Amino acid sequence: MNTHEMTENYVMKTYNRYPISFVKGEGCYLYDENGKKYLDFLAGIAVCNLGHSHKEIAETICKQAKTLIHTSNLFHIKPQAELAKLICENSFGSKVFFCNSGAEANEGAIKLARRYAFERGKKGYEIIAFKNSFHGRTFASVSVTGQGKYNEGFGPMLSDVKFAEFNNIDSVKKIISKKTCGIIVEPIQGEGGIIPAEKEFLKELRNLANNYDAVLIFDEVQTGIGRTGKLFAYQHYGVEPDVMTLAKALGNGVPIGAIVTNERTSQILKPGLHASTFGGNFLSTAAGVKVMEIISDEKFLKNVEAKGKYLTEKLKEIKNELQGTISEIRGIGLMIGAILKIDGKKLVEKALKNGLIINVTGENVLRLVPPLTITQQEIDEGIEILKESIKETLS
Ligand SMILES: *Cc1c(COP(=O)(O)O)cnc(C)c1O
Repeated sequence: MNTHEMTENYVMKTYNRYPISFVKGEGCYLYDENGKKYLDFLAGIAVCNLGHSHKEIAETICKQAKTLIHTSNLFHIKPQAELAKLICENSFGSKVFFCNSGAEANEGAIKLARRYAFERGKKGYEIIAFKNSFHGRTFASVSVTGQGKYNEGFGPMLSDVKFAEFNNIDSVKKIISKKTCGIIVEPIQGEGGIIPAEKEFLKELRNLANNYDAVLIFDEVQTGIGRTGKLFAYQHYGVEPDVMTLAKALGNGVPIGAIVTNERTSQILKPGLHASTFGGNFLSTAAGVKVMEIISDEKFLKNVEAKGKYLTEKLKEIKNELQGTISEIRGIGLMIGAILKIDGKKLVEKALKNGLIINVTGENVLRLVPPLTITQQEIDEGIEILKESIKETLS
């Protein structure tokens, strides 16, 4: 039985998969079982920010696996402490809690906001979230996800969640009250179609959270770890949250999530109130330390910014050259969205056939989130394939 047949027979069908199984990765390239080479502009959905089979990451993981993988949080864990220190030193953070995924980080952040209200003797437990958002698939995280398709048939959702319009502060003012304990927002909506928040909007959210004594949570699961040319997207905005959630690229593919808290919120979750068996174990945090060491470098981040600009310029050239195929290009750093006027699904298939991995999200938005280590030459190569694939999609 080949991989496809085994998947069909034994894996629960919760995904529509492309008929490709990769067997090897190297930098920005993936290879399938027939030896075909693909340029990867998706990076495992903004996870492999340092590309595939990164030498130092691979060595770190191997070495750690041969030394110690897991002991539980009943004991001290050196790489966990080191990773927490690195995250705090490079952000607004005061303390960090480790878990295993983005949804789990958001789940914990929402629990933290509720508990914050409890400790402050607040009169309500309402969470404000945004339409078109995505925060994950666990019950609380899907309850604050503002896209109906993700929670249909799973109700009742978590109660006391209210939705406002993204980038519309008046819609928040209409529903915020003394009963509000938390606001959760993505600085750039990712799954929703790469929609950056406006500066004023996040600033006003910060003010509202202060005025109503609510916990402001930034979901940086997708935007974090250098993706936007800064280590964290909030650093573009001059607005600090109380809590930030991380996952995706933090382990470059090793499952890890984190809740980063400021001074005001770092004492809320006390012993016994929140926990994770796997969370912060030796293997995942050793990977995280190495990832953070490499990506937090000023020069590395400047490079991401430059490459983001370059890729955006190249996309604009396609937009001008192939009129009527792309209507808008948006994003920050190497988190770029292009609104398509053509069939996105067909484009992805054509690109795969031509050896380029891309993805369409939101309502027909081409999402480009390549490894941050991509070279200018690789960008040029990807752009050529993309252009060709757009032409084939048209014909
Ligand atoms: C991917 C994503 C999540 C969910 O992360 P999982 O690791 O799949 O649980 C949450 N929030 C945002 C913004 C994401 O992009």
